[in-house]
This record gives sequence, structure tokens and C-alpha cells, in this order.
Amino acid sequence: MSSAKYIFVTGGVTSSLGKGIISASLAKLLQARGYSVTIQKLDPYINIDPGTLNPYEHGECFVTDDGAETDLDLGHYERFLNVPTSQANNVTTGRIYQYVINKEREGAYLGKTVQVIPHITDEIKRRIKLLGNTGQFDFIITEIGGTVGDIESLPYIEAVRQLKWELEKDCLVIHLTLVPFLAASGELKTKPTQHSVKLLLESGVQPDILVARTEKSLSPDIKPKIALFCNISKDAVIQSLDASSIYEVPLMMKKEELDKVVLKKLNLPDHGEPDLTQWENFLTRIKEPKKTIKIGLIGKYIELKDSYKSIAEGFIHAGAENECRVDIKWIHSESIEEANVKTKLAELSGILVAPGFGERGIEGKILAVKFARENNIPFLGICLGMQCAVIEFARNVLGYTDAHSTEMSTQTSHPVINIMENQKTITEKGGTMRLGAYPCILTENSLAYNIYKRTEISERHRHRYEFNNQYLPEFEQAGMIASGLNPKLSLVEIIEIPSHPFFIGVQFHPEYKSTVLSPHPIFVNFVNAAIRVKDLVS
Ligand code: GLN
Repeated sequence: MSSAKYIFVTGGVTSSLGKGIISASLAKLLQARGYSVTIQKLDPYINIDPGTLNPYEHGECFVTDDGAETDLDLGHYERFLNVPTSQANNVTTGRIYQYVINKEREGAYLGKTVQVIPHITDEIKRRIKLLGNTGQFDFIITEIGGTVGDIESLPYIEAVRQLKWELEKDCLVIHLTLVPFLAASGELKTKPTQHSVKLLLESGVQPDILVARTEKSLSPDIKPKIALFCNISKDAVIQSLDASSIYEVPLMMKKEELDKVVLKKLNLPDHGEPDLTQWENFLTRIKEPKKTIKIGLIGKYIELKDSYKSIAEGFIHAGAENECRVDIKWIHSESIEEANVKTKLAELSGILVAPGFGERGIEGKILAVKFARENNIPFLGICLGMQCAVIEFARNVLGYTDAHSTEMSTQTSHPVINIMENQKTITEKGGTMRLGAYPCILTENSLAYNIYKRTEISERHRHRYEFNNQYLPEFEQAGMIASGLNPKLSLVEIIEIPSHPFFIGVQFHPEYKSTVLSPHPIFVNFVNAAIRVKDLVS
């Protein structure tokens, strides 16, 4: 394609309508037509990145290969497109202002008054165009976080208004709204959508396509009504019904011809239907599983399931691969105690101890590891979950009863998990962990090697603490081995217990790399081990 096309996705009426999924679904359809597509998220909050946010605020913090701590929507983009994202795919107001203010301090504005327009909006536009300027993409889909009318979103909407003039025919705006169903009158209501488009028009932006989220099908008279009141062509009013799985949305959008309307509005040729064969196969497998297994996810943020988004999606991908539905049993680590661990974890075919930070709920996680280890239940520990496995082994196998991580106890006489050397002098919190992709070398004939079927892997990290290598010989002698090491620093990246049917802990986050088309091998093998154990028992 001669020049990159830009598609902006805005939202109105309420938040949580699924702009990320609509963006990812459209991207998938365009990709399935042979185009290269990337998706970018602009977040209107003032944090530089979501790395410092409590998971209860916005759910999981997703990490890219280049070590960016980003919004969880980037996880959806990767899972749908099977293409890695990077720092450039997530921009926040904090980052924009930080950049502009730093430039002002350097004197780069030559005495001018620095203002929201043009300086902040110029910086927003520069960030949007960065991806297009790489020459790698035919389409850049930019999702604007928040809802039109929010004070914080104004500079972004203004940037879109300006770009509509600059890019002319190379861009379009999709607005996502809600068409609520009023049970009392038995009607779908279009007024909120009309108001939402009016709000956008007040900022000078006319949407080209309107996607209406709705729980009931739009009756034939509703689309023309929305089209009439919102200045949109009838074919560009698209309904988006509630879906049983996010992975259905690309097919629903295909049925609604969202991709065709986009091509038409951008004057691009339509060379026939997108090829979604693999996607459809995956959907069949998740809709018609041959069996179901229960896996416990032990974490402390489970009140908000989005805190573990990538893990939950990893199980869907791995389940499909095993033709099995993984029923996640969400277990609060603070609720697990010595007296109830057996009842709480009974009936589980696998136990996953989740990532996390800080002391709260740690003892429950350690008890869950002990239960999995002693009862031969397939176990996967991720990041803090792996560290818990190490602490548990030190306490109950090596006999170091007060063993701990120095994150939780600086007084422990056996710091089996310790702060990394280069973390000791760091005081700032944002973006200072060991972040992003690092290589790891696997020991041949280990479980890890059997899972990956190669010796060198690369996985994404997000942590400050590490296995304390002083203890490694003792651990290995007692039956817990390090089967994956960082080649430069010899940091232990994977531990396992070879005498157990399936017991593995990883310092990295495999969940960030699981996609529909490439389910992560650790998840696939973990689910498979859980199925095998269940079959043995029943
Ligand atoms: N809190 C632990 C560390 O910083 C684990 C982090 C995590 O689970 N992502 O090392």
C-alpha cells in the first residue's frame, strides 16, 4: 500500500464497551485479508505507564518484549494478531507531558509559550504517526482510551480532529457506543448514541463508522434512525451483540461487514473474503471441548479477574490445543490456611500460583505449593509463584523453617529469594524492575526442555527478586533443580522437581506470549499434565 492508513477508535456513553476487542477484531479481519496491521492504545491518565498501578485499578499490567509496562489491551492485540507490540503501542498522557516538559526545560521551544494546542496535540500526533512512519504497517488502528466528553480525553480528540485534515482520505474514525435495552418499555434506545455523537461533533470530529454495542439485535428501523441522526451512511452502522467469547467478535464483525465498510471508506479494493480458517478451527475447539478440567488459580487480586487476564486467556488457548475446557477455580490466597487447604484445593487437577507483590496472602500461596508438591498435583508457579515454590521447598524439604524472600522478610536467616544485585541501589518505582525479554538456556532432558523442545528461549520478565544462587547446590541435591538459566548472569529462570509428575516454576511470565495461533507450550503442557492426572484418578 502506498501510504499507511490510520483508523481511530473512540468510545461513548459508557466505558468498558470493548473498544480494545473491536479494534483487535477489525485488525484481525484486515490481517486475514493480507494487510499488516498494528494497534496502538492512547491512555488519558497521568501515570507515565500502568506499571505503578495497583491491579485493582485497571487489571493486569502487560509487558512487551522491549520491556514496556502497558495496558492490558495490548495483550488482546497480541493474542488476536500474533504479532508482538512495543512501547510505541501504548502512550499515556503522563508520557506525553513528561516529554513536552523535558523539551521545554532543554529550551527546545525557543521562548514560546508551551500550550496544550499545539504542543501537547503535536506530540500526540507524532506518537500516532511513529508507527506509520516505520513503513512496516498498512494500517495503524489507534484506540483512544476513556469516553468522549471526559476532560482528560479532549487533547486526544483534538489531535484526531487535526489528523483528519492532515491525513485526508488516509484515515477514518470509528465510534463505539451503547444502545441500551429498556426492559420496562421493551425497547432499544438510540438517544445515548445520538448524544454521544453530538459530543464528538462538538469537538469537530464526525465519526465515519458507528459500532453499536447492544444486548438485543437492532431491529431494521434502528440502523437507519442512528444513521440519520448521526450523519453516518446506513451501511456504516454496525451492531455488536454481546458475545459468549471475545474470540467470536472477529467473526461477528465479519458478518456485519465492518472490514468491508472500512475498505470502502478508505477507497481500498475488496479482493474477497478474509481467510479465517485457523481462527474458526480454534473457535470450534473452544465451543465443543471433549472434556473439562478444574485448575486452581491462587492469587490475591482475584476480586478483579482482569488482574490475571493473560493467564486466563493462556488457559483458553492451551485448553483449545488439548480439546479441553479449563474451568479456572479462582482461589483467594488469603483464604487458604493450614486447616482448610485440603478442602479448598480438593478436586483440582492443577494448581497455578500467580504473580504478585508484597506480603499479603503469601502464606496461603506457600501452603498451596506444599499441597501440590506433596500430592503430585501438576503445578505451575509464575514469578512470585515460582518464588513461593522455592520458599516452600526450603522450609519443608531443606528444613529451613524461616526461609523467605527478602521482599517479605529482611530478617530471615535463609533468604532463598533475594533482591537482584543491580536492584539494590534503585529507589524509583516506575519502570525500574527487570523488564522485558531476556534469553534463557535450558538443561537438556529437563521438563522445561521437553516442553520447549529447544535449548534457547526468550521470555518476558517483570521482577526485582531472584533465586539466591548460594543455595542452588543444596536445592539440587534435595531434588529441586534449576533447569533454565540466564546465560549472562546465571540467574535461575526455571525450577522443577523431576520426581514430581509436573512441577515447574518460572521467574518469567509465559502468559504474555500465549496467542490464539501460538498457545504457550508451558500452558499447553500444564493443561495436558492436568488432564493425564485427572484421567488416572477417575
Ligand atoms: N514480587 C516479586 C519480585 O519482584 C515477583 C514479581 C511478579 O510476580 N511479577 O521479584
